[in-house]
Amino acid sequence: MTPAEIIAKIPESFDKAQEAGDLLFFPSTIHKHSEFDVDFEIRLCPALQQKPNLPTPHFNSAPQLSSGKPDPFAPPYILNLCLGEIKDEEEGTEYVILFNKYSVVRHHILLITKEYQSQTSPLLPPDLVQTYLLLLAAQRTGRRYFAFYNCGELSGASQPHKHLQLIPVDDDGPPIERLARKTKIDYPGEPYPFPRYRAFALSSLPYANHVRRLPTSLSSTSYDDLDRELSNAFLSLLDLVVSTVRHDPDYPSGTPSYNVILTLEHMHLIPRKKENHILEETGEQLSVNSLGYAGLLLVKSERELEVVKRESIGRILRDVGLQSVHDLLVDEHSRDIVGEGLSVQ
Ligand code: AMP
Repeated sequence: MTPAEIIAKIPESFDKAQEAGDLLFFPSTIHKHSEFDVDFEIRLCPALQQKPNLPTPHFNSAPQLSSGKPDPFAPPYILNLCLGEIKDEEEGTEYVILFNKYSVVRHHILLITKEYQSQTSPLLPPDLVQTYLLLLAAQRTGRRYFAFYNCGELSGASQPHKHLQLIPVDDDGPPIERLARKTKIDYPGEPYPFPRYRAFALSSLPYANHVRRLPTSLSSTSYDDLDRELSNAFLSLLDLVVSTVRHDPDYPSGTPSYNVILTLEHMHLIPRKKENHILEETGEQLSVNSLGYAGLLLVKSERELEVVKRESIGRILRDVGLQSVHDLLVDEHSRDIVGEGLSVQ
């Protein structure tokens, strides 16, 4: 199927899956809370108290092999949850698109590799291209989605089989996107051979984050250009994530964890050090994934909502993220380039 065909099926198929009882929808209310120029949306969903917090599985091997538990993202799929399949014609990679079985936001979908790949593995060119094509297809029908990927054991992911997620938002995009859009960037000199130079950080945020602005022409570009732009952006940001992690002497050993947020305009990568924040007042765990860094948090009770606001979202996101060393990394990189006899203006 094409991304446009998948997007067109969403509204009717969602209702059908919900009516059949195959998709559970948990109603919630949204509470706005502003910090450092971001209008965070905290979603209060009391029904989630009924859903047990399962321990995070190990991500390096298929679930059947590691825990004996079946992989919910392997066939056979629940028919009503399955929107269809997409094949990346260049690389041959196949994907299945499922509804999130436990939806807090209507029309939340998952792009899953048909063959098992690990959630600790980086995004590959076809993952990026197919996700971007789905975002574009949604925009063309007047809907705005953004995509996210929780990569690694400490990223807040709950399933070990590689899955990107797409979620609808209002016209303006997720709250963090407004800050990214407002950020003025000028690239000194000729940026192309120095990809790190094209990344920037949202410096008012109290945690490490690395962002690339995507060219506006991407909506009408060829497959090859889309592939090159998205892959270059991702690799340069991943390089910065790895360098940020290396600057932290206490970072746990193993593959780094990070969150990815992708809109039609920006790609954000946020390195992660911990999966959960322990709320100071209650001692309870709050799991944080990419959505938190997009500006969308989820709580299960009025009490938790008030505790989160009192503790401040900045402190929570900083606790499970890392300290920003973005400027230091870019400086180090430009010194290396000058040291190699290349000039950067
Ligand atoms: P994450 O927790 O970020 O790894 O995202 C995995 C998502 O998959 C969660 O939001 C779950 O609600 C959802 N999920 C779990 N089991 C299923 C299933 N059988 N079918 C579809 N979605 C599922």
